[in-house]
Amino acid sequence: MSTTNLSLPTGGSVAVRTGIFINNEWRSSSSGESFNIYDPTNNQPLASISHASLQDVDDTVHSAKRAFQTTWGTQIPSSERARIMFKLADLMERDTEKLAALESLNTGKGIRIARGYDVPEAIACLRYYAGLADKTHGQVMDHLGPQALVYTMKQPYPICGQIIPWNYPIMMWAWKVSPALAAGCCVLVKPSELTPLTALALCDLAIEAGLPGGVLNTLPGLGSSTGEAITRHMGVDKISFTGSVSTGRRILVASAETNLKSVSLELGGKSPIIIFPNVDLEEASKWVAMGIWGNSGQDCTAGSRVYIHESVFDIFLEKMCARAKELIVGMPYDEKTNFGPLISKAQQTKVLDYISGAREEGARVVYGGTDRCEYPEGCWVLPTIITDVTTDMRVIKEEIFGPVLCIAPFSSEKQALTLANDSSVGLAAGIFTSDHSQAMRMSANLEAGTVWVNQYALTSNGAPFGGWKSSGWGKDLGMEGIEEYLRVKAVHHNFGSKA
Ligand code: NAD
Repeated sequence: MSTTNLSLPTGGSVAVRTGIFINNEWRSSSSGESFNIYDPTNNQPLASISHASLQDVDDTVHSAKRAFQTTWGTQIPSSERARIMFKLADLMERDTEKLAALESLNTGKGIRIARGYDVPEAIACLRYYAGLADKTHGQVMDHLGPQALVYTMKQPYPICGQIIPWNYPIMMWAWKVSPALAAGCCVLVKPSELTPLTALALCDLAIEAGLPGGVLNTLPGLGSSTGEAITRHMGVDKISFTGSVSTGRRILVASAETNLKSVSLELGGKSPIIIFPNVDLEEASKWVAMGIWGNSGQDCTAGSRVYIHESVFDIFLEKMCARAKELIVGMPYDEKTNFGPLISKAQQTKVLDYISGAREEGARVVYGGTDRCEYPEGCWVLPTIITDVTTDMRVIKEEIFGPVLCIAPFSSEKQALTLANDSSVGLAAGIFTSDHSQAMRMSANLEAGTVWVNQYALTSNGAPFGGWKSSGWGKDLGMEGIEEYLRVKAVHHNFGSKA
């Protein structure tokens, strides 16, 4: 099955599979179709990838069902699932350099960041859930008398479709695949059509780790065809999705119109950060910069709306401009780079449109706001700061998914809270204050699934992550993350009671 050698900017090359992975075998699409992925630094084709067809999806579901009934699910001890997952994590660690190279080439993120953050975080997530594989269990309720027992069992959804976005491909793979495998599910992974490379590279490692055929299947393809085929398949029991709010809605409709499969949704955000004047503004500016310009702003929790107390507005704005200037805008393979291109020309155009729209609506672009840089062929948009924003502007209401920071003043805690909660989404929020009762009050009242106090954008495998309001349903990570893949069954067992 086809393999492509991708040249590394530093010399040498890295090989990657470009087919469809079903039942531990590589194949081409049954339709013969393929699609291109592009290098975000120059918009040139990077590789041609097989496009999984409706037939491929159907074959995968059947093969996954066989695996669930014979070699996975409840057919093997959970400790054995854990052992294989730990092995896979070790292999990922061994191949860190290759996985980081693929992630960097495909997404444009800095190689140093892919090697030091994305890949290790994915490995840590896999290990966290490997550790949980044999620690989820039901309960016994013996309240029906001495000759009867009620107990609950937690059983895996047999077949799960896992649909992944392009901003953190290997981490999102780990957030989805790890809890599902630990729970005992068989999975159909559909990576983003823009960034399938690391998901494909992980398939050979799964074979090497000893994962039985049919347990982990990878189906690259477009959302509107492969994605839709998975979400509409009557044999798929569960969909776990991370992506945009609009796609989340389509997935719910697909579930409603077919077998009412269970759906978990991790969707977009428009996260506010509130900064009170009693904090170290220098320190706060570092967290804010990380929160909005990390991953070039392509982060679902991007802290894109900063509300700063009016008494320190000017000084904070100056600090943020200095932070923007410090960023090293560069090619992903330069070890110093911490600000790479956006994922695609389409994303670049979308972000630039938001910036010009903000100008037209009367906002002021005080830093950046352009794609003009050393790399005109690439998809960069420079770090951008916008002020003079009002609550009705698109730039403050809608998720941009780019490096665009809006900064607005507030005068009271009540006003800050009202501004922060004035959003249809509620993925995350941040507060900077040295007053701990204020921090606790605000944390309780912010409408968001995650609140960071005096820090921003850090996640922990042990803490549930997921949005409120239109940011989604259900949780990734933590104990809650594995529960998403388990169904509870109550067993009422009579061993002697007479009717
Ligand atoms: P997207 O919704 O366009 O695509 C996500 C995935 O869904 C892709 O694999 C795509 O092919 C697939 N898809 C598209 N249409 C589909 C359909 N009709 N049926 C089934 N699958 C379909 O999102 P994106 O542009 O890849 O990612 C950006 C979005 O993801 C942003 O809104 C961002 O906030 C969100 N995101 C959320 C989180 C989170 O944890 N909450 C994390 C990362 C990204």
